[in-house]
Amino acid sequence: MNKNISVGILGGGQLGMMLCQASSNINIKTHIYCPDSDSPAQLYSDDFTCMDYLNEKEIIKFSNSVDIITYEFENIPKETLELIDSKKLRPGIKSLEQTQDRLTERKLLQKLDIPFAPYIELRNEEDFKYSISNFGESIIKTRRFGYDGKGQISINEKTKLNKDISALFNEAIIEKRIPFEFEFSQVSCRDIHGNISNFPLTRNIHENHILKHSYAPLKLNNDLGIYAKEITKKILSDLEHIGVLTVEFFKTKENIIVNEIAPRVHNSGHWSIEGCSDSQFQIHMQAVSGIKIKKPELLYECHMENLIGNEINEWINKKSDDEVNIHLYNKKEVKNGRKMGHVTYIKDITE
Ligand code: ADP
Ligand code: MG
Repeated sequence: MNKNISVGILGGGQLGMMLCQASSNINIKTHIYCPDSDSPAQLYSDDFTCMDYLNEKEIIKFSNSVDIITYEFENIPKETLELIDSKKLRPGIKSLEQTQDRLTERKLLQKLDIPFAPYIELRNEEDFKYSISNFGESIIKTRRFGYDGKGQISINEKTKLNKDISALFNEAIIEKRIPFEFEFSQVSCRDIHGNISNFPLTRNIHENHILKHSYAPLKLNNDLGIYAKEITKKILSDLEHIGVLTVEFFKTKENIIVNEIAPRVHNSGHWSIEGCSDSQFQIHMQAVSGIKIKKPELLYECHMENLIGNEINEWINKKSDDEVNIHLYNKKEVKNGRKMGHVTYIKDITE
């Protein structure tokens, strides 16, 4: 088949894998670039470059060989971004710069008048003491490179300053722990024409700071549901974002507040592969390729469960059927806390 557009993807994990799977149905050619020879995405991509992100020659070659470059993770080194043609990068540099660092992310939210948890920069002992006396139970989060709860330390009034904490001076924020009712997310997409498509809201349950279950659609009080979409639209528009972007929220007693922005497809949107007319992966690839996006229609009620570490063993020899869809990521090494696959249970929509 003669594919009409080629999209390079930085990163070769399961998100990259599912972006490639979606592309093969819509005539988009994919080229994965990542340093990991055991990458789940390479099995489904048309081309694969296995190289370090800092290999200048290979990054330039990669950039020249594709029409568009997108990414499946936000922690792409600055040096890499400087080597690639910025006109080809979708979502653009602004989306990455504003969300790679939790501090700039919070400044963006503040600028847009979007609520988030009280926080303070952790620069020195005074900041630490301030948080202890003003926030009580809190979470220290590294500004960069955190995912699946990595780089987080829980603290409370009794915590004493220690080496692990002082090692994070100037590299972390301290955030008040929010006694939320539940967590949910909004996965949305913006195309080059500025059209925005929203997926239904998803309720998320984390275990040990890692997403374990997603339930969709979440039926949130109507005003709050509209508010979540307004917040997401404000962020998408301000960033002039192209592609999928996900906003993680906490539902508090009276309101909703933003926890985190991911400038990409998201684990809480995996259910859309079966649950919607167009999946988050398909819509992302269409948007970055310059294709006008549609509104995804809900087909099923879904429950997505992540298979973490050894949990994969139970599913390796099972087959998908009418009720459960099994997605294995083909990662060779099983590690504690590692996302090895997911399953999505579907059922007919009840009003
Ligand atoms: P990441 O997903 O990048 O690891 P998050 O900031 O989303 O980091 O934190 C992971 C999870 O930890 C959240 O989904 C939530 O369950 C919990 N968490 C994070 N911040 C807070 C907070 N301020 N109050 C309560 N729980 C939190
Ligand atoms: Mg998160």
